[in-house]
Amino acid sequence: MNYDDKNIFAKILRGEIPTKTVYEDEYALAFPDINPQAPVHILVIPKGRYVSAADFGATASPEEITGFYRAVSHVAKQLGVEDSGYRIICNIGPDSQQMVPHFHVHILGGHKMGHVLA
Ligand code: C5P
Repeated sequence: MNYDDKNIFAKILRGEIPTKTVYEDEYALAFPDINPQAPVHILVIPKGRYVSAADFGATASPEEITGFYRAVSHVAKQLGVEDSGYRIICNIGPDSQQMVPHFHVHILGGHKMGHVLA
């Protein structure tokens, strides 16, 4: 799948759609999900043009991959869920119901969750 520059997260990265940034560095941008599914629900997206976690893992540079996942950990700590625990989810493709074709990690936490894998 080719990257679509018109996707909503590409527009957020370009500043065309406002968001409430909770963290930003050269590799990643983090902002609240507009439809939160937990007391803490933050999306972390890479600055680069990657359709999914699969695309990111296969084609991003080691620096981008390290920088991105460091940002995810940093955001969890910043949000105060590092010790209580949290869940990270990334949907990949149609069967997973990925809605936005720009790789993103959901950070979910702030309450006790059920043990759900599918
Ligand atoms: O993983 P998936 O692609 O299904 O998740 C996309 C997420 O992006 C949804 O949780 C949705 O609420 C969120 N979203 C958002 N801001 C938008 C559009 C979608 O936070 N403008």
